[in-house]
Amino acid sequence: MTGEIKDKREDEPKNPCKLCGYQNESLMHILNGCQSRKHKYTERHNLIEGILVEEIRKAQQQNKPIIFRNSTIRVNGEKLDGEESRLKPDIWYIKDNKLFIIEITIPYGQYTEDNQNTLEIRTEEKKAKYNNLVIRCQEKWAIETHLITIVASSLGVLTKESIQNVHLLTGYKWRRLNSLINRISMNAIRGSYLVYTNLEMNQPVERYGNINHRGEEHDHQRFNGEQHASNDEYNINER
Ligand SMILES: [Zn+2]
Repeated sequence: MTGEIKDKREDEPKNPCKLCGYQNESLMHILNGCQSRKHKYTERHNLIEGILVEEIRKAQQQNKPIIFRNSTIRVNGEKLDGEESRLKPDIWYIKDNKLFIIEITIPYGQYTEDNQNTLEIRTEEKKAKYNNLVIRCQEKWAIETHLITIVASSLGVLTKESIQNVHLLTGYKWRRLNSLINRISMNAIRGSYLVYTNLEMNQPVERYGNINHRGEEHDHQRFNGEQHASNDEYNINER
Protein backbone atom coordinates (compact mmCIF):
# COMPACT_ATOMS: atom_id res chain seq x y z
CA MET A 1 0.00 0.00 0.00
CA THR A 2 1.32 3.46 -0.82
CA GLY A 3 1.61 6.13 1.88
CA GLU A 4 -0.86 8.24 -0.11
CA ILE A 5 -3.55 5.61 0.27
CA LYS A 6 -2.77 5.15 3.96
CA ASP A 7 -3.03 8.92 4.38
CA LYS A 8 -6.48 8.92 2.79
CA ARG A 9 -7.60 6.36 5.33
CA GLU A 10 -6.13 8.23 8.26
CA ASP A 11 -6.81 11.80 9.33
CA GLU A 12 -3.40 13.40 9.09
CA PRO A 13 -0.82 12.83 6.39
CA LYS A 14 1.96 10.94 8.11
CA ASN A 15 3.04 8.27 5.65
CA PRO A 16 5.88 9.80 3.70
CA CYS A 17 8.01 7.93 1.15
CA LYS A 18 9.89 5.21 2.98
CA LEU A 19 13.04 5.78 0.96
CA CYS A 20 13.40 9.54 0.48
CA GLY A 21 10.94 11.00 2.97
CA TYR A 22 8.91 12.92 0.37
CA GLN A 23 5.58 13.76 1.99
CA ASN A 24 3.20 12.34 -0.60
CA GLU A 25 4.08 8.72 -1.27
CA SER A 26 1.85 8.38 -4.30
CA LEU A 27 2.15 5.63 -6.88
CA MET A 28 3.49 8.28 -9.27
CA HIS A 29 6.14 9.24 -6.72
CA ILE A 30 7.25 5.63 -6.23
CA LEU A 31 7.24 4.64 -9.89
CA ASN A 32 8.62 7.83 -11.43
CA GLY A 33 9.45 10.62 -9.01
CA CYS A 34 11.59 9.28 -6.16
CA GLN A 35 15.17 10.53 -5.96
CA SER A 36 16.17 7.43 -4.00
CA ARG A 37 14.94 5.11 -6.74
CA LYS A 38 16.68 6.79 -9.69
CA HIS A 39 19.05 3.90 -10.25
CA LYS A 40 16.03 1.58 -10.42
CA TYR A 41 14.42 3.79 -13.07
CA THR A 42 17.62 3.50 -15.09
CA GLU A 43 17.54 -0.29 -14.75
CA ARG A 44 13.91 -0.35 -15.91
CA HIS A 45 14.80 1.87 -18.86
CA ASN A 46 17.72 -0.43 -19.71
CA LEU A 47 15.47 -3.49 -19.69
CA ILE A 48 13.45 -1.94 -22.52
CA GLU A 49 16.57 -0.66 -24.28
CA GLY A 50 18.11 -4.15 -24.18
CA ILE A 51 15.01 -5.70 -25.74
CA LEU A 52 14.99 -3.15 -28.56
CA VAL A 53 18.67 -3.67 -29.34
CA GLU A 54 18.18 -7.44 -29.38
CA GLU A 55 15.17 -7.23 -31.69
CA ILE A 56 16.74 -4.67 -34.04
CA ARG A 57 19.68 -7.05 -34.46
CA LYS A 58 17.42 -10.06 -34.91
CA ALA A 59 15.30 -8.24 -37.48
CA GLN A 60 18.18 -7.54 -39.88
CA GLN A 61 18.76 -10.51 -42.13
CA GLN A 62 22.02 -9.21 -43.56
CA ASN A 63 24.34 -6.23 -43.12
CA LYS A 64 23.63 -6.23 -39.42
CA PRO A 65 24.45 -2.72 -38.24
CA ILE A 66 26.77 -1.91 -35.35
CA ILE A 67 24.46 -0.65 -32.64
CA PHE A 68 25.73 1.97 -30.22
CA ARG A 69 24.20 2.55 -26.80
CA ASN A 70 24.43 5.69 -24.73
CA SER A 71 27.20 7.18 -26.81
CA THR A 72 27.85 10.29 -28.89
CA ILE A 73 27.34 10.01 -32.63
CA ARG A 74 30.35 9.51 -34.89
CA VAL A 75 30.30 8.84 -38.60
CA ASN A 76 33.51 7.61 -40.24
CA GLY A 77 35.33 8.43 -37.02
CA GLU A 78 34.18 12.03 -37.15
CA LYS A 79 31.99 13.67 -34.56
CA LEU A 80 29.86 16.79 -34.65
CA ASP A 81 31.04 20.09 -33.25
CA GLY A 82 29.10 22.25 -30.87
CA GLU A 83 26.51 21.57 -28.25
CA GLU A 84 24.79 18.68 -30.04
CA SER A 85 28.03 16.72 -30.20
CA ARG A 86 27.67 15.99 -26.50
CA LEU A 87 24.25 14.35 -26.70
CA LYS A 88 24.27 10.62 -26.09
CA PRO A 89 21.16 9.01 -27.50
CA ASP A 90 20.05 5.73 -25.93
CA ILE A 91 20.64 3.87 -29.19
CA TRP A 92 21.98 4.86 -32.59
CA TYR A 93 23.08 3.00 -35.69
CA ILE A 94 23.46 3.39 -39.42
CA LYS A 95 21.59 1.05 -41.72
CA ASP A 96 21.28 1.36 -45.52
CA ASN A 97 22.88 4.79 -45.34
CA LYS A 98 20.27 6.05 -42.89
CA LEU A 99 21.03 7.15 -39.38
CA PHE A 100 18.58 5.99 -36.72
CA ILE A 101 18.61 7.74 -33.36
CA ILE A 102 16.43 6.11 -30.73
CA GLU A 103 15.33 7.59 -27.45
CA ILE A 104 13.36 5.60 -24.90
CA THR A 105 11.39 6.98 -22.00
CA ILE A 106 9.20 5.35 -19.36
CA PRO A 107 7.12 8.16 -17.80
CA TYR A 108 4.09 8.02 -15.55
CA GLY A 109 1.07 7.95 -17.84
CA GLN A 110 -1.82 10.22 -16.92
CA TYR A 111 -3.77 13.25 -18.05
CA THR A 112 -2.77 16.69 -16.83
CA GLU A 113 -5.30 19.22 -15.55
CA ASP A 114 -5.62 20.70 -19.02
CA ASN A 115 -6.30 17.23 -20.40
CA GLN A 116 -2.94 16.53 -22.00
CA ASN A 117 -1.53 13.03 -22.07
CA THR A 118 1.83 12.94 -20.26
CA LEU A 119 3.09 10.26 -22.65
CA GLU A 120 2.57 12.67 -25.54
CA ILE A 121 4.16 15.54 -23.62
CA ARG A 122 7.25 13.46 -22.97
CA THR A 123 7.40 12.42 -26.63
CA GLU A 124 7.38 16.06 -27.71
CA GLU A 125 10.07 16.91 -25.15
CA LYS A 126 12.33 14.22 -26.55
CA LYS A 127 11.77 15.46 -30.10
CA ALA A 128 12.56 19.03 -29.05
CA LYS A 129 15.72 17.93 -27.26
CA TYR A 130 17.04 15.97 -30.26
CA ASN A 131 15.74 18.13 -33.10
CA ASN A 132 18.97 20.06 -33.58
CA LEU A 133 21.03 16.90 -33.43
CA VAL A 134 19.02 15.46 -36.31
CA ILE A 135 19.49 18.63 -38.36
CA ARG A 136 23.22 18.79 -37.64
CA CYS A 137 23.76 15.14 -38.63
CA GLN A 138 21.91 15.68 -41.88
CA GLU A 139 23.96 18.79 -42.62
CA LYS A 140 27.34 17.39 -41.70
CA TRP A 141 27.14 13.95 -43.25
CA ALA A 142 24.31 14.39 -45.77
CA ILE A 143 22.71 11.32 -44.25
CA GLU A 144 19.00 10.72 -43.91
CA THR A 145 18.44 10.87 -40.14
CA HIS A 146 15.47 9.58 -38.19
CA LEU A 147 14.70 10.29 -34.56
CA ILE A 148 12.66 7.41 -33.17
CA THR A 149 10.93 7.83 -29.81
CA ILE A 150 9.74 4.83 -27.82
CA VAL A 151 7.48 5.90 -24.98
CA ALA A 152 5.96 3.29 -22.68
CA SER A 153 4.27 4.25 -19.44
CA SER A 154 5.61 2.80 -16.22
CA LEU A 155 2.40 0.74 -16.11
CA GLY A 156 2.99 -0.70 -19.55
CA VAL A 157 1.05 1.39 -22.07
CA LEU A 158 2.81 2.27 -25.33
CA THR A 159 1.73 5.23 -27.43
CA LYS A 160 0.45 4.49 -30.94
CA GLU A 161 3.43 6.34 -32.34
CA SER A 162 5.77 4.09 -30.36
CA ILE A 163 4.08 0.99 -31.73
CA GLN A 164 4.49 2.36 -35.26
CA ASN A 165 8.12 3.08 -34.46
CA VAL A 166 8.74 -0.47 -33.24
CA HIS A 167 7.28 -1.64 -36.54
CA LEU A 168 9.53 0.78 -38.44
CA LEU A 169 12.66 -0.42 -36.60
CA THR A 170 12.01 -4.14 -36.95
CA GLY A 171 9.73 -4.49 -39.96
CA TYR A 172 7.72 -6.97 -37.86
CA LYS A 173 4.07 -7.36 -38.68
CA TRP A 174 0.97 -8.58 -36.93
CA ARG A 175 1.60 -11.42 -34.55
CA ARG A 176 5.34 -10.87 -34.24
CA LEU A 177 4.93 -7.13 -33.74
CA ASN A 178 2.15 -7.66 -31.25
CA SER A 179 4.26 -10.11 -29.30
CA LEU A 180 7.20 -7.67 -29.19
CA ILE A 181 4.92 -4.83 -28.06
CA ASN A 182 3.59 -7.08 -25.32
CA ARG A 183 7.12 -7.96 -24.30
CA ILE A 184 8.08 -4.29 -24.02
CA SER A 185 4.90 -3.59 -22.08
CA MET A 186 5.43 -6.54 -19.76
CA ASN A 187 8.99 -5.46 -19.04
CA ALA A 188 7.93 -1.90 -18.25
CA ILE A 189 5.49 -3.38 -15.72
CA ARG A 190 8.11 -5.84 -14.50
CA GLY A 191 10.62 -3.00 -14.06
CA SER A 192 8.02 -1.00 -12.16
CA TYR A 193 7.20 -3.93 -9.95
CA LEU A 194 10.89 -4.19 -9.07
CA VAL A 195 11.00 -0.43 -8.45
CA TYR A 196 7.96 -0.74 -6.22
CA THR A 197 9.29 -3.63 -4.19
CA ASN A 198 12.92 -2.48 -4.40
CA LEU A 199 13.94 -5.94 -5.63
CA GLU A 200 16.90 -6.57 -7.88
CA MET A 201 16.21 -6.43 -11.62
CA ASN A 202 17.91 -9.73 -12.32
CA GLN A 203 15.34 -11.79 -10.42
CA PRO A 204 13.76 -14.39 -12.66
CA VAL A 205 10.13 -13.62 -13.47
CA GLU A 206 8.82 -16.74 -11.71
CA ARG A 207 10.11 -15.55 -8.36
CA TYR A 208 7.99 -12.50 -8.05
CA GLY A 209 4.64 -13.36 -9.26
CA ASN A 210 2.03 -13.62 -11.78
CA ILE A 211 3.21 -11.66 -14.80
CA ASN A 212 2.74 -13.63 -17.98
CA HIS A 213 4.20 -12.92 -21.37
CA ARG A 214 1.20 -11.02 -22.57
CA GLY A 215 1.46 -8.71 -19.61
CA GLU A 216 -2.22 -9.12 -18.92
CA GLU A 217 -2.50 -11.02 -15.74
CA HIS A 218 -0.21 -9.31 -13.32
CA ASP A 219 -1.62 -8.84 -9.91
CA HIS A 220 -3.28 -5.43 -9.86
CA GLN A 221 -3.37 -5.52 -6.08
CA ARG A 222 0.37 -5.08 -6.04
CA PHE A 223 -0.20 -1.64 -7.47
CA ASN A 224 -2.88 -0.90 -4.91
CA GLY A 225 -5.72 -1.17 -7.31
CA GLU A 226 -4.19 1.13 -9.89
CA GLN A 227 -4.56 -0.61 -13.20
CA HIS A 228 -2.48 -0.32 -16.28
CA ALA A 229 -4.60 0.26 -19.35
CA SER A 230 -5.98 -2.80 -21.00
CA ASN A 231 -4.18 -4.55 -23.77
CA ASP A 232 -6.77 -3.22 -26.21
CA GLU A 233 -5.19 0.20 -26.07
CA TYR A 234 -2.22 -0.97 -28.01
CA ASN A 235 -3.55 -4.04 -29.71
CA ILE A 236 -2.50 -3.64 -33.31
CA ASN A 237 -5.41 -5.76 -34.47
CA GLU A 238 -7.62 -2.84 -33.53
CA ARG A 239 -5.82 -0.47 -35.80
ZN1 LIG B 1 10.75 8.78 -2.40
